[in-house]
Amino acid sequence: MKRVLCCLFAAVMALGLCGCGKQEKSRTVYAMDTVMEFRVYGKETEAALTALERRVQELENLLSRTKETSEVSALNRAGGQETEVSGETWNLLAAAREAAQVTGGAFDVTIAPVASAWGFTEESFRVPSQEELDTLLPLVGAGNISLARNGDTYLAALQPGQAVDLGGIAKGYASDCMADVLLECGIESGYAALGGNVLAWGAKPDGSDWRIGVKDPNNTAALTGVLALQNAYAVTSGGYERCFTENGKTYHHIIDPATGYPAESDLVSVTIVMDWNGEKLGGKSGNGTLCDVLSTALFVMGEEAALDFWRSGVYDFDAVLVTADGRVLTTDGLAQRFTPTEGSGYSYETVS
Ligand code: AMP
Ligand code: MG
Repeated sequence: MKRVLCCLFAAVMALGLCGCGKQEKSRTVYAMDTVMEFRVYGKETEAALTALERRVQELENLLSRTKETSEVSALNRAGGQETEVSGETWNLLAAAREAAQVTGGAFDVTIAPVASAWGFTEESFRVPSQEELDTLLPLVGAGNISLARNGDTYLAALQPGQAVDLGGIAKGYASDCMADVLLECGIESGYAALGGNVLAWGAKPDGSDWRIGVKDPNNTAALTGVLALQNAYAVTSGGYERCFTENGKTYHHIIDPATGYPAESDLVSVTIVMDWNGEKLGGKSGNGTLCDVLSTALFVMGEEAALDFWRSGVYDFDAVLVTADGRVLTTDGLAQRFTPTEGSGYSYETVS
């Protein structure tokens, strides 16, 4: 009897530990062309990490431009014919088409043939001739993406010769999906860093803010400052992320759809901050997607147009802009949330 009681007691102890013991677990994953880091605190941490990893792989399988079997590759190969896609891909294409409209064409996923001409997609870098760019530029225009829906059938079509590259939006969308997974798994605290797309989930286990560094574009081992965030997205675009040098000139991967050339921006990086809106998105795009769109678009726009866009209030977001002449501009909503790095050599300004 005594032995049985002892065994029972041990079992309850073990159950108790499983029930309340909060753990911390992290995982590094390579997906969507990016090193991703997930960290979660809570009970079912291993299950949550596995769910996060599965979800990004699922998205890569739908949205990758370099995976032949993806839905995006099928659409790009279709030569202008209508292609059936998942509701998820369809929704993201709709968001991308709208993004081109709102950003006055600064963000345009149909930049794909031009990005390829520069070798950014296949990583075989080259400077295309003006002639070549002149033949490709007329293909750029996200307004020409046709989207139709017939009940549960989702159809997409491009113009012949057009192709889409979701590299400027897909990781932001993935960060929205990460929020849904964390919500479903009951994780209260953690983060998902998909390269430069970060989701700060809840607060740190001690109740303080997550601290997210904004890289110094001129020395990516250093930071221009740190953002203190909870339940928010912070997404950075910078020319330094992917670039090559030829004949002493550096060419980066963010292309100005108006010229077909890497954007001759007076900005060297753009970080966009938005709150997580607290809702399950269920395959629709949210603020993570929007942050990704806006970081790329504002980089293309340059300082003046980027600030005009922010001031227009079309979207409620905050930004950290690093200029080529050594200034760090933070919008006033970040006044309490951004801490400059002392001695960084940058000058700091708050804009309103
Ligand atoms: P991001 O790092 O989010 O700024 O996205 C850059 C990636 O988006 C590039 O590597 C291209 O795949 C794609 N891209 C480049 N220029 C543009 C643009 N003007 N609009 C939309 N996507 C772009
Ligand atoms: Mg982007």
